[in-house]
Amino acid sequence: MARIVMKFGGTSVADLDRIRTVAQRVKREVDHGNQVAVVVSAMSGVTNQLVKWCTELSPLHDAREYDAVVATGEQVTSGLLAICLQENGVDARSWQGWQIALRTDTAHGKARIQSIEGDELIRRMETGQVAVIAGFQGIAPDNRITTLGRGGSDTSAVALAAALKADRCDIYTDVDGIYTTDPRIVPNARKLAKIAYEEMLELASVGAKVLQTRSVELAMNERVRVRVLSSFTDALPGEEAGTLVVDEDEIVEKETVSGIAYSRDEAKITVRRVPDRPGIAAAIFGALSEQNVNVDMIVQNISADGTTDMTFTVGKADLPRARAALTDLRGQINYTDLLEDPNVAKISVVGVGMRSHAGVANTMFGALADKAINIQVISTSEIKVSVLIAAEYTELAVRALHTAYGLDAA
Ligand code: ASP
Ligand code: MG
Repeated sequence: MARIVMKFGGTSVADLDRIRTVAQRVKREVDHGNQVAVVVSAMSGVTNQLVKWCTELSPLHDAREYDAVVATGEQVTSGLLAICLQENGVDARSWQGWQIALRTDTAHGKARIQSIEGDELIRRMETGQVAVIAGFQGIAPDNRITTLGRGGSDTSAVALAAALKADRCDIYTDVDGIYTTDPRIVPNARKLAKIAYEEMLELASVGAKVLQTRSVELAMNERVRVRVLSSFTDALPGEEAGTLVVDEDEIVEKETVSGIAYSRDEAKITVRRVPDRPGIAAAIFGALSEQNVNVDMIVQNISADGTTDMTFTVGKADLPRARAALTDLRGQINYTDLLEDPNVAKISVVGVGMRSHAGVANTMFGALADKAINIQVISTSEIKVSVLIAAEYTELAVRALHTAYGLDAA
């Protein structure tokens, strides 16, 4: 007997037939003698529609009312699934965030979980009742409903798994696991049996958007074993199903590179010919951080004539704010030009095995050189090497790197 949390995303509960299929899947786990808590998303498309309504009525709507509205998608699916389980002879009831209670801070629209009362849920699970929990939502100290940010029901599921001391957290989605890269670009990408939390974090933040980043951070901190698997294949999850996101120590044969990720979400900015003296970087990045603009990759050139170029990337959506902040700064730091290039892509190779292997970056540079792809900016961490290239070469670069690191399926 195991205690498991099963989470179903929007496509898995998209209509009544799919909800029936989910109920069957839950029932099978119950029939195996497992204690089950289910976390559901809203039906696919519903949250988008709810967000749109709020924005249409008022672009600067009250964030507390936004949460009151968008949390309803999950309320519907939790009730429907409970009905469907009961219809199949399974004892089940729905739980909204406030009923559990799943307590959060007051950051409406992107609230953080602070605590979960698990005792009553555990007591009922021990009697065989399935808890069907509305993901994505919680309750703030002032009793207002909160939501956890888009994709937040992953985080609900992981947090519940930790609070309920579950043996597994199975995340059912529309892909059957985490791949070495995007299979739409590389058809012979391989599904990974296991991936380390840290690798998953790097892959999530650079564009492989299977799990909400926060859910992976939480899983890593709370040591929750997360399995990503498809709700569209029929087999009961055996040990080999999907991809297990686990502690690095659980991965015996560490590949040097586990995956290749890409992101077209960033834009490149170059501040041309600023004085090469102390305080310039502080002025530039201080001005950007004041505007809440996140900076990712940075290069600064050394130059002979007492000036330097500062090149960096920001999220594409932040480009207007970055431009405004830097334009205001012109009088203070006297640059000659402000250049922008939104047509860039960041390609990253990720792997915990890099810690103990030399030459990883060099393989990357060589593979890109062979395809005559120019590298504009480079950044590295202990388990990642990223390069910025022209966006039009994204697919070519991903394919070349996938082959260069021996990741292609046989
Ligand atoms: N329904 C919410 C969203 O679409 C939460 C989730 O699906 O994880 O963002
Ligand atoms: Mg999701």
